[in-house]
Amino acid sequence: MTATVAIVGRPNVGKSTLFNRLVGKKLALVDDTPGVTRDRREGDAHLGDLSFTIVDTAGLEEADAESLSGRMRAQTEEAIRSATVVLFVIDARTGLIPMDRHFAEMLRRIDVPSILIANKAEGRLGEAGAWEAYGLGFGDPIALSAEHGEGMADLYAALMPYVDAADAEAAVTDVPLDPRETAGGEDEDEDEEAAAALARTIPLRICVTGRPNAGKSTLINKLIGEDRMLVGPEAGITRDSISVDWEWHGRPVKLFDTAGLRRKARVQDKLEKLSVADALRAVRFAEVVVVCLDATIPFEKQDLQIVDLVVKEGRALVIALNKWDLIEDRVAAWKKMRETCDHLLPQVRGVPMVRLSGLMGEGLEDLMKAAEAVHRTWNRRISTAKMNRWLEGVLERHPPPAVSGRRIRIRYATQVKARPPHFVLFCSRPEVLPDSYTRYLVNDLRERFELAGVPLRLSLRAGD
Ligand code: GDP
Ligand code: GDP
Repeated sequence: MTATVAIVGRPNVGKSTLFNRLVGKKLALVDDTPGVTRDRREGDAHLGDLSFTIVDTAGLEEADAESLSGRMRAQTEEAIRSATVVLFVIDARTGLIPMDRHFAEMLRRIDVPSILIANKAEGRLGEAGAWEAYGLGFGDPIALSAEHGEGMADLYAALMPYVDAADAEAAVTDVPLDPRETAGGEDEDEDEEAAAALARTIPLRICVTGRPNAGKSTLINKLIGEDRMLVGPEAGITRDSISVDWEWHGRPVKLFDTAGLRRKARVQDKLEKLSVADALRAVRFAEVVVVCLDATIPFEKQDLQIVDLVVKEGRALVIALNKWDLIEDRVAAWKKMRETCDHLLPQVRGVPMVRLSGLMGEGLEDLMKAAEAVHRTWNRRISTAKMNRWLEGVLERHPPPAVSGRRIRIRYATQVKARPPHFVLFCSRPEVLPDSYTRYLVNDLRERFELAGVPLRLSLRAGD
């Protein structure tokens, strides 16, 4: 069945422009005047080899409405309910306005999978608005320019889990996704420089999570303690605070931990089980998640569940072995924990582990360095040229197996998205490529490009 994708958002954010780009025809009327009346439109959309029905809800919102009410609202809701996935569009240039939050609430209430799009972000102009959009709680916004067609590869990657690919033959490619068309040379270094410059101004978003009593509050308090610079008036360490702004060596950091920060004020919570909702919220906000373990009882079931959550949400991971001051035979313990970790968590092989004591304030420097390093990995973009040189080597060393007497061919590879890194391999019969071979590729990729500690996504696509 064809997936239905609904475009939702307040007037004038660029919904119709996006609709037109995906449908590939000048179907919708685009106008600068907000709320120019339009009917609900549906079209057959293509993005790379993805095919889906797209529904534009432009015109269903009330033109002047702060409050979305009445018939229009009912229609928008209906469109949302019948969608497989929603593209929730905001304007990255103007930033968030209250009406955006009305839509956010509506989407949360209806509980349909949503992808947040920060539109009008061409040439990085919308960066500020895109970052502000994290506050909506829909995770990573995709920076897009519907008008200029930028960011379409990221949109492709985000839609892929919800939308089936068309038959290879039937695929219509309106947007160049084929790396042979778009492949620049070694543009990676340039990207990294830009990323580094950006990093100096944009807060690194970290959350500390873990089981009750692992020592999260102690750790956070130590991190933001006297010798660190607190930004803002008393930095809101109140029972409801969800984040603290501070700086680490001049770099702004936003630290999240609903449960941990609140717990001090509500002692009875000590006995409370880890609240999955709280953890999930903090993890979604964060780029880097520090999973705080009690080193005297590490890798308990609940710890592994938290790591799974982080991997599922695609965040960068650091494992903090807290209460290290209580460990006696440190050399043996360290060796054992490293082994246990790689054994239990193969999905993030080589994940950075840091020994520390929140209580004594030891190892904090190592923790922050590890967080920064894994954040860089999480943001990595590997050029298509490098990917394909890697692919050549890896195929030569260990070619894909033959299935029913015919060899599977893998043609080329490309990275479609960062944060976390997401790769697509185009191959002749993706449906029969054994999982063991995919694992081999992922492990090799991780090793070759030093991608330890971040979940990697690999998708197979049919393509000759
Ligand atoms: P809708 O009301 O949400 O359907 O918004 P429209 O698609 O009608 O677009 C509103 C205005 O924003 C128009 O003037 C578009 O040309 C402009 N617009 C749409 N997408 C972009 C974009 O990616 N960048 C810029 N700079 N303007 C855009
Ligand atoms: P949370 O529930 O994860 O926020 O844990 P807390 O920060 O409240 O700490 C739980 C208990 O562990 C408290 O009694 C702390 O004093 C203790 N604790 C926290 N960090 C350390 C540490 O690094 N070493 C030792 N020995 N005890 C710690």
